[in-house]
Amino acid sequence: MNHIKKNDKVKIMRGKDRGKEGKVLQVMPLLGKVVVEGLNLRFKHRKPRRTGEKGERIQFPAPIDISNVMLICPNCSKPTKVGFEGKKREKMRKCKKCNNNFK
Ligand SMILES: [Zn+2]
Repeated sequence: MNHIKKNDKVKIMRGKDRGKEGKVLQVMPLLGKVVVEGLNLRFKHRKPRRTGEKGERIQFPAPIDISNVMLICPNCSKPTKVGFEGKKREKMRKCKKCNNNFK
């Protein structure tokens, strides 16, 4: 189980978007990265497919190292470290700031 999940709110702790908050769109557990809505934006260039067509610049949020983001607790709204509580099936995440559990 990951300490950060899709649709979580996170705060960026490092890099050019440090201090900004956003919603997790995608978690990539194997790479240890997350994609956060509207943050760490990069441009992708798409070449024209047909003659006469223009190339496009597409803006997209690039994956961010999971270690560079902190979960924002749904209970106390503070960026926090997460612990785990309970057995495998009913495992809950636990905010280390307010000690509340959440899924
Ligand atoms: Zn909390």
